[in-house]
Amino acid sequence: MSLTHLPPLREALAEHGLLAKKAFGQHFLLDLNITRKIARLAEIGAGDCVIEVGPGPGGLTRALLETGARVIAVEKDQRFRPLLEDLAQAAGPGALTLEFADALIADEDALIGGHAGHAVSNLPYNVGTALLIKWLTGSWRPVSMTLMFQKEVAQRIVAPVDAPAYGRLALIAQATSQARTIMDVPARAFTPPPKVESAVVRLTPRPDRPSAQRLDALQKLTAAAFGQRRKMLRASLKPLGGEPLIEAAGLDPQARAETVDVDGFLRLADAWIAQRAR
Ligand code: SAM
Repeated sequence: MSLTHLPPLREALAEHGLLAKKAFGQHFLLDLNITRKIARLAEIGAGDCVIEVGPGPGGLTRALLETGARVIAVEKDQRFRPLLEDLAQAAGPGALTLEFADALIADEDALIGGHAGHAVSNLPYNVGTALLIKWLTGSWRPVSMTLMFQKEVAQRIVAPVDAPAYGRLALIAQATSQARTIMDVPARAFTPPPKVESAVVRLTPRPDRPSAQRLDALQKLTAAAFGQRRKMLRASLKPLGGEPLIEAAGLDPQARAETVDVDGFLRLADAWIAQRAR
């Protein structure tokens, strides 16, 4: 059987007696027009290698395989094994590798064998943010990430300075990547529909990605600054250096965290590293 001869996703689910499980954050995309659009917007094509977390019934996986890309799919729910093995067989030798594991602790470098790779996923809502942070700050550096989140999380990733959703997630995402929302997806597109709307975010690495040391400093400073969001920096950052630190970064000690842009926080990170080196 080839990819074009696979049964519709609804039939494949029924054939294997599979129903969505809430505990695994399962909301399936069964409309191949939507999954093909995501693969197209992800700019995936022949010769690319993609890590997909949570293939579930494999709708997005099919669309990715149709582009000619090689896919490594990491799924926690073993119930999908027979269905996904059918898909791997239909895709042909070497096209789809299945890994049944928790993506939060998976070693992407080992899975992908040192090749450059992209991340494309309709993420489970309960682990989406943790996976994003892992990919933004960990050792595996995806060439691009095209990821579905609940809309509120997508807004927190792409929020500009001063926007209500601007905070730690926006800072880590935008210090390391260029991030933009590329598609809104209504709840009715999923089976079963979730309670919230969703959106696909595409992230590509910034050429001036901060070092691990700067990222670590950024994480500590943003935790302190946004932990007390309504306070002035001179109060929220007191334990980390207070006014001298803030002035060394060229910022106003009376400013609030939500008014400091990514470059401002990176200057704070540099000032903090310099202060600790003294
Ligand atoms: N990609 C499929 C689609 O678009 O129809 C399913 C998406 S569903 C929102 C999320 C998928 O992630 C489910 O298949 C679920 O079992 C899987 N999953 C949940 N937690 C996971 C984890 N920690 N590691 C790997 N897969 C996980």
